Amino acid sequence: MTRIVIVGAAAAGLAATEELRRSGFDGAITLVGEEPHAPYDRPPLSKQALDGSWDAARLRLRSDSDLAVLNATFLSGRRAVAADAAHRTVTLDGGEELAYDGLVIATGVKPLRVDGDGLLTLRTLEDAERLRSRLQPGARVIIVGAGFLGTELAAAAATRGCKVTLLDSCNSLLARLGSPISRHVASLHAAHGVDVHSRVRVTHVDAAGAELADGEYLAADVVVACTGSVATTWWLEGSGIPLDDGVLCAADCSATPGIVAAGDVARWFNPAYGRLMRVEHRTNATQQGAHAARTLLAELDGGRGDAYFSVPYAWSHQFDTRIQLHGVVLDSDDTEIVAGSEADGSFIVAHREQDRLVGIIGVNAALRDLRPWQQQVYAEAALLTAPVG
Ligand SMILES: Cc1cc2nc3c(=O)[nH]c(=O)nc-3n(C[C@H](O)[C@H](O)[C@H](O)COP(=O)(O)OP(=O)(O)OC[C@H]3O[C@@H](n4cnc5c(N)ncnc54)[C@H](O)[C@@H]3O)c2cc1C
Repeated sequence: MTRIVIVGAAAAGLAATEELRRSGFDGAITLVGEEPHAPYDRPPLSKQALDGSWDAARLRLRSDSDLAVLNATFLSGRRAVAADAAHRTVTLDGGEELAYDGLVIATGVKPLRVDGDGLLTLRTLEDAERLRSRLQPGARVIIVGAGFLGTELAAAAATRGCKVTLLDSCNSLLARLGSPISRHVASLHAAHGVDVHSRVRVTHVDAAGAELADGEYLAADVVVACTGSVATTWWLEGSGIPLDDGVLCAADCSATPGIVAAGDVARWFNPAYGRLMRVEHRTNATQQGAHAARTLLAELDGGRGDAYFSVPYAWSHQFDTRIQLHGVVLDSDDTEIVAGSEADGSFIVAHREQDRLVGIIGVNAALRDLRPWQQQVYAEAALLTAPVG
């Protein structure tokens, strides 16, 4: 019987499992997940799980009966510690070896480690539960890093009545999204009492507070590092699987014979943008998980997979503001408000690369206003993949 092992039992791993069965695969599937939970969703961890509006049961991606229908062996609380691409095996903690014909790598990312005793991070259900219990009204909270995660966490903590300080070394919040969004998000946070320090260098940080390069010391009851993440590939070192800021994949999400990768951990050649990309967005995890499963089945059948062509999509909720991002945004500041206005609190920003529309960001934008721009982003991405000549 053909055996497929999937390592990582969250959005991408679950999507791969479901797609295998949907496509008629009737061999053995083993899903290995180091967390002691059924697959659950991560975006609510910085939103509904922190404000207490959702409990752990609501975060689950599938019920027990939905999982049972998949007829997969689910090894929860088990960690893969090594893989051998040549011999097609995965080794689990405890030394057990799983032999496979096909392997799906869906191990996501881990928070980037920051030196400093007692710093909290936010990636797992346990992290969110720990944080929620600490975010009490009046608590002094320092958040280091003002990307999506840091700004969402700042909003959740401020909403819970904490005194929040947000520190970032960049010029502004969500700096990568360009100045109109940064300005808007900075004033949104300031209006809700968040003390925003941009362009600061933190020289020391621990559970008691942060010291800045200018000598200022900020004391805190809770300190959270939101300074980025690293692909969870430590267990693949020496496996023969190509690694470079993630599992390095071809356009069809295949890494090496019999092995595909998907979700936050996969760095694949995205033909929509003609470059290698690793996308840490929830929608991609599901879509790429399903795609990688199809590629694996095609390969096990002696064929080849199709290219995974993806226009990334992400969203963020902060206070009463909804941000939606289609496409890619670049570090350059070639941005322009193309609809609405900052003053109204509802607008659309276009990102261009060499005159080509590559990304669009809506802030409290109505779907009917966003859709034509979204379609243009898709059309421009499709242009790149059209045959030349
Ligand atoms: C707090 C938070 C808020 C977010 N909000 C948004 C949002 O609003 N919008 C958006 O688009 N995206 C958001 N994201 C990103 C989104 O959640 C991720 O892109 C998505 O979860 C990626 O899914 P994944 O399955 O690839 O990886 P993950 O969700 O990271 O899952 C990987 C799984 O593999 C397990 N694993 C790792 N190593 C091993 C091993 N060696 N053996 C066994 N198991 C292993 C991990 O424990 C984990 O369960 C958010 C992320 C976080 C953390």
